[in-house]
Amino acid sequence: MALIVQKFGGSSVGDAAKIKHVAKRVIETQRAGNQVVVVVSAMGDTTDELIDLAQSVSANPYDAAREMDMLLTSGERISMALLAIAINAQGANSRSFTGSQAGIMTSAKHGDARISEVTPVRIREALDAGDIAIVAGFQGFNKDSKDITTLGRGGSDTTAVALAAALDADVCEIYSDVDGVYTADPRVIPQAHKLDQIDIESMLELAAAGAKILHIRAVEYARRHNVDLRVRSTFSKDPGTIVYSTKPEGSKMEEPIVSGIATDKGQAKITVIGIPDVPGKAAEVFRVVAEADSNIDMIVQNNPTGVDVTDRVADISFTLPLGDLGRVAGALEAAKATLGYRDLEQDADIGKLSVVGAGMRTHSGVSSTLFAALAKAGINIEMISTSEIRISVVTSSKQLDDAARAVHTAFGLDSDEEATVYAGTGR
Ligand code: ADP
Ligand code: ASP
Ligand code: MG
Repeated sequence: MALIVQKFGGSSVGDAAKIKHVAKRVIETQRAGNQVVVVVSAMGDTTDELIDLAQSVSANPYDAAREMDMLLTSGERISMALLAIAINAQGANSRSFTGSQAGIMTSAKHGDARISEVTPVRIREALDAGDIAIVAGFQGFNKDSKDITTLGRGGSDTTAVALAAALDADVCEIYSDVDGVYTADPRVIPQAHKLDQIDIESMLELAAAGAKILHIRAVEYARRHNVDLRVRSTFSKDPGTIVYSTKPEGSKMEEPIVSGIATDKGQAKITVIGIPDVPGKAAEVFRVVAEADSNIDMIVQNNPTGVDVTDRVADISFTLPLGDLGRVAGALEAAKATLGYRDLEQDADIGKLSVVGAGMRTHSGVSSTLFAALAKAGINIEMISTSEIRISVVTSSKQLDDAARAVHTAFGLDSDEEATVYAGTGR
């Protein structure tokens, strides 16, 4: 008997009819002779709507971080109970569990807690009794504070992978509103094509670059614990995409040079202008940024060309999450006198485009194809960064989707058929 973990995202449980449909699929999996653990997200856009609601009673609801977690975890509790009710009504037995009941222990950081331990004793008991176990995604419990935590937006994927690892599941299936992992977001590029398989390193880079089909921490967890994932749709029988942590046996296939591209509009840019070009200044700037608790991404410093070495100044630009822009800019403004720079520039209207592929390690020419495609489309590049298997560029946010389409075509990734997006609002 196999043990299967199935995770259903918000669009898969968006209304009563969809919940009944998921119940039917889950029961079919059990009747085929498997033990089934199901992880659910909140219905549709519930999490966003709860955040909107919090913002309508407070200008800064995240100041009450503990209460935000109490609020947001209620979304997943609604769907877990409704799914259990629907499954029972369709003649199978099921029980729902909150994250803490399922043994998901985390750090204490509200809104972005890390899983520290998974002890799914009650899930095992339910499975041994022949029940389908339903678990609320995205949430856990901190033993010291005795408080409920959340794992960050999109975190239900991570709940599913963590349970699959702890239960030594045979498969972890992530059900969403598209047929699998595509060469690009099919909402942006309908000509994107579905990948039958992708290596976990490339998946990690795509998730980090903004492809929200999988939560980055779920992919990290799967890599560390060797969990193979299958990403597929709730609304079709398509086998989906396998994200493999070890190459399938007998596979002689070479990694593609480019597996896919990802875009991210949730980034901003800060430029520190006219900072003295002396050792230690970059360290000072980024100490201020770190103290403001921001995770920065790309960094570019120009090479000053002044004649006199003593009054040479440099400009340092870096990208950061859009939500951190005000806080970090404020911290840098406050430190202006000690840092000794001339001016600070903020840009909230940028977008990041990334090209990812494991075959890049051994192939040259990817950057020249990328830059030529952007030039032909008349798109200006503001910043560039590379890793072994990724090249990212920053453009204006207005041009980002056009840039993505041009680059997708240039790398020969376009499919003749349009991808189907079955549900969801893309919010
Ligand atoms: P869920 O609610 O099921 O977790 P998400 O909205 O988090 O679903 O993720 C699914 C969405 O991810 C798709 O609807 C699609 O728009 C988007 N997406 C972004 N990049 C990709 C990609 N490379 N392949 C497939 N979907 C992608
Ligand atoms: N409901 C949460 C969110 O919208 C978690 C998830 O869907 O994975 O971010
Ligand atoms: Mg998701």
